[in-house]
Amino acid sequence: MGSMGKVLGVGLVVGCAVAMCVVAGTMVGKRVKSRRRWRKVVKILEEFEEGCATPVEKLRQVVDAMAVEMHAGLASEGGSKLKMLLTFVQNLPNGSERGVYYGLDLGGTNFRVLRVQLGGQRSAILEPGVERQPIPEHLMTSTSEELFDFIAASLQKFVEKEGNGSVALEGKLRELGFTFSFPVKQTSVSSGILIKWTKGFSIHDTVGKDVSECLNQALERRGLDMRVAVLINDTVGTLALGHYHDEDTVAAVIIGTGTNACYLERSDDIIKCQGLLTTSGAMVVNMEWGNFWSSHLPRTSYDIELDSESPNPNDQGFEKMISGMYLGDIVRRVILKMSQESDVFGLSFSKLSTPFILRSPLIAAMHEDDSPDLREVARILGEILEIGDVPLKVRKLVVKVCDVVTRRAARLAAAGIVGILKKMGRDGSGGIASGEVRGGSHSKMRRTVVAIEGALYTSYTLFREYLNDAIADILGEDISPHVVLKVMEDGSGMGAAVLAAAYSSSGQDTL
Ligand code: ADP
Ligand code: MG
Repeated sequence: MGSMGKVLGVGLVVGCAVAMCVVAGTMVGKRVKSRRRWRKVVKILEEFEEGCATPVEKLRQVVDAMAVEMHAGLASEGGSKLKMLLTFVQNLPNGSERGVYYGLDLGGTNFRVLRVQLGGQRSAILEPGVERQPIPEHLMTSTSEELFDFIAASLQKFVEKEGNGSVALEGKLRELGFTFSFPVKQTSVSSGILIKWTKGFSIHDTVGKDVSECLNQALERRGLDMRVAVLINDTVGTLALGHYHDEDTVAAVIIGTGTNACYLERSDDIIKCQGLLTTSGAMVVNMEWGNFWSSHLPRTSYDIELDSESPNPNDQGFEKMISGMYLGDIVRRVILKMSQESDVFGLSFSKLSTPFILRSPLIAAMHEDDSPDLREVARILGEILEIGDVPLKVRKLVVKVCDVVTRRAARLAAAGIVGILKKMGRDGSGGIASGEVRGGSHSKMRRTVVAIEGALYTSYTLFREYLNDAIADILGEDISPHVVLKVMEDGSGMGAAVLAAAYSSSGQDTL
């Protein structure tokens, strides 16, 4: 027994030693493998970063391409991916407007009704009321009459709540600015035909109809003494509000769920509509810049996949690199790729393959996490993506991906803005028309204000900083002090009301 025990004992000792060797061997192997996998992940990041690079020379190419496409879109219908739609808005508010006006902002799942009081002399806008309401889901796919009756009823309730002091002047209708952010073919400043519904709406009998007329009829059915004075989209509202406060405002940009821009163009340059009679010699053009495209845009395989899996492939290419709807999904695709190539995000199931699970506020929260151990990043990875605790270096990697995506988005938006300035001859370069002498002297550079709205710019600090810095980079230190970006909070709705004032019978008409 004793010897058996000994043998067994030795056997055990030997067995353990072998086992330990195996364990040590596995650990070394694991370390080598994990280093190899880490290198793979770093390579994915580096390639992505390279693909997203936006050095200032590249941004200048985007600037030029934007200005050229704007020209092409103005030259002929379908001449560019930029639709460059006429808005028929020739006069922007100048601050002299007086009276009480209404705004209605319908652009998605919510709509807003508001009322402004204007006192002339660029007075502060008194805003006695704003009401925000969701559109009941069943109305988004019902009939035109039902939808507009619902909106008219809300307007009526809003007006009735006002009480005294806001009774419309005898025989005078209350005037409404209607912000309708769906594709419309404008037929006058106060009318336009719906081309198609987007954003979840689908009401067949509205398509092809004048949406102002639809609303006016609903208002009449309810006996409400109100009519649509102007029909605009949200960027035009932002420009109008900007111009009310500051007459140097000549363009507006929105970077929210989607992105778009408009600006004031000389009528002579709207070649596709020659003979366009304007009293002011200018008209606001709605660029629909989300659809801008240029081979100079830094595009990666992740962008290509995002586009091809989207419901609108080959559409809204610029928007897909810039706006709040998409930023998170680009980040998700990069992290997903990393998780497929290595185990740095763990091996268990995660939600990384769920499209659009990372919304842009989450990207902002991770990007701006300033805790030393990146607690917020860990929380979002855990709670939203169901990725268990990952080491600090992996959290840092995620932050870096957010940074690359957001930086590219902000810098491209900046290039777009400078492109508009270039088209207007306000970038200090003398415009794109060759041989045109606009006196390269910077002292002649006019102060230029761009109104800006949308949560990406207003609520995502790093996005805003990257955008501002890029504009300064592109323009250089001589020109950039002349260009001011001004946030127009609630510009889309308020601007519609103020523009209604500018177009009302008592409104003024100087730009
Ligand atoms: P909309 O464009 O729908 O009119 P907003 O201008 O408020 O409205 O933009 C909403 C978009 O901005 C959404 O895509 C949302 O995810 C995004 N967003 C909201 N807040 C933030 C934030 N703090 N950081 C980044 N993105 C944000
Ligand atoms: Mg908006």
